[in-house]
Amino acid sequence: MIEVFKILKNTQVEGPGNRFCIWVQGCKKHCPDCWAKDTWEFGVGTKYSVEELFLQIKETQNIEGVTFLGGEPFEQAQELSLLAAKVKSLGLSVLCFTGYTLEELKAKNDQWVNELLAQIDLLIDGGFEKENFDLSRPWVGSSNQCYHFLTDVYSPEVISQYKNKIEARISEDGKLEINGMGDFNQIKKNLCLQLGKNIVK
Ligand code: SF4
Repeated sequence: MIEVFKILKNTQVEGPGNRFCIWVQGCKKHCPDCWAKDTWEFGVGTKYSVEELFLQIKETQNIEGVTFLGGEPFEQAQELSLLAAKVKSLGLSVLCFTGYTLEELKAKNDQWVNELLAQIDLLIDGGFEKENFDLSRPWVGSSNQCYHFLTDVYSPEVISQYKNKIEARISEDGKLEINGMGDFNQIKKNLCLQLGKNIVK
């Protein structure tokens, strides 16, 4: 089973094109500047089988690929590698964010970590670091984070066409949810002023 924090079936701000996005639940890294601390705890997320998630992806129209983020996807490398292989069989791309560096992942010398790496087209590594805050590149918030083109699906030229953006949605219970990358403190302040609502994420 894959433990999930949140799913967005169609987003344009978590990688190239329209993407099915899975935030996994659980992270052992505990980076000091993490802005997603509610994804750290294991055992509190929603559990889906690989097949359940694959069916949801298969039924979603007009997506270019799937993005894994978290939480820490490599804590669930076995199940995600199986899902990623199925995603690739549909001709979709796989983008994965990780708080580990690529070198750290390779040094684990773990079968499932390696299997997951083998399925990823674009790996974005490194946790968010406040002292290196930098929004000049797409989908990342600090300059220590690196893009690794593990296949020829994406390239620096493709990436350079994108800018950081955010999406805002009103959830069923009336709360405003934000995803993507930007100066969240400023965005929340502006939205609060304009809407006078509680913002949850
Ligand atoms: S790896 Fe990502 S989710 Fe985990 S603590 Fe670091 S920034 Fe947060």
